[in-house]
Amino acid sequence: MEEARLRARLAGHDGEGGGGSMRTRAMGFRGRGGALGWAALILLGGQLILAGCDESSPLRPADLTGLAQIHRTPDSGDTVAIDPRQVIESVRPADWYQGKRAACSLVFDDTSWSHYSLAAPEMEARGFRGTFALVTSVVFDWSIWQELDERGHEIANHTRYHASMSTLTPARAEEEIVNGRDDILAHIPGPTRVDSFVYPNGDAPSWCWEIVARYHRCARGAHGINPPVPGNFMCLAGSGYYHPFSVEEMNANLDQAISQGGWYVPYYHRLTNQPEGSHLVCPVRIFRAHLDHIAERSGDVWVAPFGTVAAYIRERMALRCDLVDTFSGCCLHVWTGLDPAQFDLPLSVVLTFRVGMPEFILRFGNESFRVAEGTREITVEVQPGGYTPVRIEMAPADGLQASGLAACSQRLHSSIACPTEK
Ligand SMILES: [Zn+2]
Repeated sequence: MEEARLRARLAGHDGEGGGGSMRTRAMGFRGRGGALGWAALILLGGQLILAGCDESSPLRPADLTGLAQIHRTPDSGDTVAIDPRQVIESVRPADWYQGKRAACSLVFDDTSWSHYSLAAPEMEARGFRGTFALVTSVVFDWSIWQELDERGHEIANHTRYHASMSTLTPARAEEEIVNGRDDILAHIPGPTRVDSFVYPNGDAPSWCWEIVARYHRCARGAHGINPPVPGNFMCLAGSGYYHPFSVEEMNANLDQAISQGGWYVPYYHRLTNQPEGSHLVCPVRIFRAHLDHIAERSGDVWVAPFGTVAAYIRERMALRCDLVDTFSGCCLHVWTGLDPAQFDLPLSVVLTFRVGMPEFILRFGNESFRVAEGTREITVEVQPGGYTPVRIEMAPADGLQASGLAACSQRLHSSIACPTEK
């Protein structure tokens, strides 16, 4: 996928999901780069305090000796590099991008001008991107949907004529699904596939799931909040809102998703500037109030289009990772085994450090993080299929030498646990 559109879908136009500093927050203490971080660290030299091998047994600097190698850097003098495998206890994929507690996908069904004129600008003002599920036979102007696609929103298939699947034969249902998808591909020049499907009228008979799966990688057809590992990608849940629209109910659903660590999919039909709506027509003032609530909680919730979140989950469930030796040193290797042409999203992974680490610098790819003493976890971004160099560096300290074998080194050793599925 083209980089700008991918970034917009992942995290809004500014790359921060509308939440300002949340990425930094989720990632723990981010270093400001080499020289400044090191200046602070070097000052600690000689009085580095190591808290303990585990909670019950204090660790002395000399205990790390067997794990350390001296590195000489031109601008900061001697530094000590610790084997990352002795410091990183486990690597696991974060449930949601950037280590957020929940995910949210805003969806708009049935093709309405108000999606373009009201919904999209309101979302974009907050750094959000949504999903527009088109009934392709009623599209009168494809250029607005092309434009929304280019601005990072998702265009989804809601069939050509909006017939309930249960009223069709399997052959006719397949025709409706394929026609909707092909209409979108014929008129929206960017995408080469349509990721998401929405069942007309929420009617998602089980015989239809396999047919939808031939053409799409996710579909919405049930009600509620999705767990982090959905049981069925062809019948995912959403929360539909109808008259009388209650922003309290909408906000409560988001809050519940955050407390459950789930995926919240609110969906709307038309929006209106009028103060009061009707059955399928939601006043934009209500929609705006809900978006404000989502934005207030954006430190906890990842907002991205429906198909983007589904792809993230698929990749996360398939993720394998390992710390391996390469010619350029220790690297974190992550892979999914999925087709990279279809699943190309970066993922967030959580590195857990062993108890009792003093402050250190984590070099992860091109990024540097100054990790405060006692920090247990930070979240970093990886590209499946990639090798990211990992280095752990500390200032030299009394008793921390780069030779000899420490008595504690056996206890410090830990293998990388990487759950295959959650
Ligand atoms: Zn519909």
